[in-house]
Amino acid sequence: MQILKLLPDMVVELKKPHPCGKRDFRIVRVGSVCRIVCLSCGRDLEIDRIKLEKAIKNITSNVAQKD
Ligand SMILES: [Zn+2]
Repeated sequence: MQILKLLPDMVVELKKPHPCGKRDFRIVRVGSVCRIVCLSCGRDLEIDRIKLEKAIKNITSNVAQKD
């Protein structure tokens, strides 16, 4: 199982859709608990990092990395 590099401003597609029906979220804060914002309705939610990693289906847009 690969470790996902999660960074703020990444846009990810989750396996489970938000109640509004969309699956695309932007990561706002990364920690042991992460905060993500739904791109469709703008609501934010907190999710355990472990749960978030399991919930991610696809990373839609990666942020530029300096290394
Ligand atoms: Zn939503």
